[in-house]
Amino acid sequence: MADKFDFSLPFSVDFDFVTGLSVMGESTKRMLSRMKGMFCDAEAYENALAEGDRTVYEFYEPGCPEEAGQLAFGTSITYPGKVGAEYHMTKGHFHTILATAEVYYCLSGEGYMMMENPEGDVRVAKLRPGEALYVPERYAHRSINTGSTPLVTFFVFRGDAGHNYGTIETKGFRKLILEVDGKPAVVDNPNWRAEECHE
Ligand code: ZN
Repeated sequence: MADKFDFSLPFSVDFDFVTGLSVMGESTKRMLSRMKGMFCDAEAYENALAEGDRTVYEFYEPGCPEEAGQLAFGTSITYPGKVGAEYHMTKGHFHTILATAEVYYCLSGEGYMMMENPEGDVRVAKLRPGEALYVPERYAHRSINTGSTPLVTFFVFRGDAGHNYGTIETKGFRKLILEVDGKPAVVDNPNWRAEECHE
């Protein structure tokens, strides 16, 4: 997929603005089996996995070169479901260049963007079809599907920003969104680790 598009020339690429699907090529799939440790309820995770592996989310992107001046873009599709009381979500990441903002335009579905910066400021924003969300620089971000249909967003950010998944994999987010009394609720993450960790 990465060498299918020449980013030095104009090109067009299809996206379905409801499903987020593209004919550009293979998506990158995040299976439940690749998300060990990401959900707060470890026992519920093992039970879910025992029932069979499944796609939690996938994304399509045309393989932007990681270079200044380029724009990385694509669609992210988080499928409905829960692990215990915790809704399906993306792993979430900081950008390697921390001072990187990103725009997410919600195409379909319903959910939230969880955001936090290294100083511990936490922001939660609703994702609604037809609305663009500006994720400011320095905020880690994670999409969370609280609905019953796929949560689909279109994203754009600077091409050289890179992804830092390690900090979130190790520490987690400070807050989680769980289903409480049948509704999404923002709660403290009992597993959040305050100590510094690798980048
Ligand atoms: Zn990002």
